[in-house]
Parts: sequence; C-alpha cells; structure tokens
Amino acid sequence: MEKVNFKKLLDNLETAVIAVDYDNKIIYANTFFCSLFNTNCETLKNKNIYDFLPEKKETVDIKNYTYKISKYDDDFCSYYYLSAIDNQMEKIYSDFISTVSHELRTPLTSIRGFADTMLMSYDKLDKNQIQKFLTIIKEQSNRLIKLVENLLSISKIQVQQSNLVYKSINPKTHIEQVIALVKNQYPDHPFELKVEDNTQNILVDENKFQQIMINLLDNAAKYSYEKGTVSVLVANSTHKENFVSIKIEDHGVGIEPENLSKIFEKFARIENHLTRKTQGSGLGLYIVKNLIEKMGGQIFVKSSTVLPNSGSVFEVLLPAASYTNQSQKVLEDK
Ligand code: ADP
Repeated sequence: MEKVNFKKLLDNLETAVIAVDYDNKIIYANTFFCSLFNTNCETLKNKNIYDFLPEKKETVDIKNYTYKISKYDDDFCSYYYLSAIDNQMEKIYSDFISTVSHELRTPLTSIRGFADTMLMSYDKLDKNQIQKFLTIIKEQSNRLIKLVENLLSISKIQVQQSNLVYKSINPKTHIEQVIALVKNQYPDHPFELKVEDNTQNILVDENKFQQIMINLLDNAAKYSYEKGTVSVLVANSTHKENFVSIKIEDHGVGIEPENLSKIFEKFARIENHLTRKTQGSGLGLYIVKNLIEKMGGQIFVKSSTVLPNSGSVFEVLLPAASYTNQSQKVLEDK
C-alpha cells in the first residue's frame, strides 16, 4: 500500500481533531480546529486544551454551532474530536425568528399602545403628554426603520450586490456629522473627536462609511455606563502604509476575550448586563465588518472586562484616497 499522508487527511476533515499530552498541552490540532478559533495552528502548540474547550462537558458552542466533544485516550496522549451536531440550521433559523420577532414586536406594541392612548384620550391630554407620546412613537419607528435597513443590508451582502460609489472624503467632516446624529440619541454621553494633522482623505462609499460610523459610535455609547465618554481618534495608520486609522474608544462593559470573535457574526448578541437593557438585533457589527472589507479595509477590536469600565477600542483601517491606484485595485479584486 502507498504511504498514507495522515496529516493531509486530518487537515481535510470537517471535524476538529486535537491531540494533547498528559499535562493537557496541545501537541497537534488540525486545520479545522484552528479555523474554529481563527488562529494559526503553530501558535496553538503547548497551549492548554481547556483554554479552548470546557472541562467535563459533552458539548461546546463555537461560532453559532454546537459541537459534540469525544475523547479517546491512548498510551501516550489523548485525542479530542469535535463534530457538529445536526439541526444547526434549525437553531440558526429559530434564533433569527426569535430575534427579529422580538425586535419587531417590541416597538410595534409600543407604537400601537401610545397611538391608542392618544386616540382615546386626545381631549384630556396636555401639550407635554402629547409631545412625550409622539417622541416615543418617533423613536420606536426609528428603531423599526433601523432593523429593516439592517435586514436589507444583510440580504444585499448575501447576494453580493451592494453598489458602492467610491469618493475621496475628509473623515473629520463626516465623523463630526455622525457624532452630532448619535449625540442626539445619547445626550448624556460626552463625545470627543481628535484628528491628527496631515491625516489623509479616505476612498470610500460616503453612505456606507456613515453607516459604519453610526453603528460603532452607537454601540460605544449603548454599551457604556451613564455619562461614559466616547472618543474617536483619526490618524494615518502607523502599521499599514497608505491607510487611515479610526479608533472608537469607550469605557463601557467591555467584551470577554472568548467572545471577541463572535461579535462579528450574524445575530450575535453577547450577554452582558447592558445587552438585556438595550435594543439590538446583533446585526450591526456583521454589517460593519462586511462593508469595511468590501471597501478594502479591516476592523480590529481590543477589549477587556477586568475593570468595570475597562471598555473597548474598535479600530477601522480604510484606504487613503491618495493611494488610488492600489486601493482601486484592491476594490476591483473584491
Ligand atoms: P447589537 O448591538 O444590535 O446587539 P452588534 O452586532 O452591533 O449588535 O454587536 C454585537 C454584540 O457585540 C452586542 O450585542 C454586544 O454584546 C457586543 N458589543 C458591540 N459593541 C460593543 C462595545 N462597544 N462594548 C461592549 N460590547 C459591545
């Protein structure tokens, strides 16, 4: 029999396979396992398996999928296999239905309730009450519009037909406009903007850039404590030549390290004491990441939950307009 290439065989499996030594240190992990954790296989060596898998549990949830954990002990090491449990599509579909129906029903109920009250008691309400009820109706309608826009954005992303119109724009002017818009919704939060001298213009679709910034600034305020400052720092990137870096920093609840890769997935809402209180569909960051990458950029996040207000920094890199030739090429390649 010809020599079998076991490594190639393991790397082509749609099942995660890991081998660990007696100290639970990883000796080997196949490509599928590394892709589940968005990591390079080499860097996994010698790491503890329980940094990735829960101890004494039969299943693990990774990227919206549930995997069954099987373990097999050999004389020298132990092997773990993770296989996806069936009915995942049903779970994703039911998550989708429950998120969307909750996000639709809540504002609709409140719009109907306040409209009913106004109709039934219009002659008894004073000016202030009418203004208060109409404001709620307006805010809840905006929430519905945002959800519908987000759903339309993801369907466009899925069929890949978002007609982007590229233009050289000054990030400062546009971010100032977005801050004014978001500040309206979060009047108690101070917003700071610092733009370094000589920052280049960026080559983006103006509307999509605005959509990206609204989502990131809205999240920064939404997941911050009362009066928490949101800062935006714009500068030419020091890491990637001909790219402009936009950092959005907050001092809010932060994100646990194990959840950092999940937040960009569709419908992902991470449990924290503010997600329960705040509105959201878990679509914002999925759309943000897709739009940034379509425009040839990248997004990174650093976050911590060590202190109550450690907060998060989302960094967006977008191609500088002076970089037209190369950036145009990147865009054409997409
Ligand atoms: P939504 O805000 O509608 O839930 P997003 O896709 O914008 O959806 O964000 C996904 C999840 O990421 C949120 O539910 C929240 O748990 C987390 N998140 C996003 N931005 C922040 C932030 N600035 N600070 C803390 N958590 C955040």
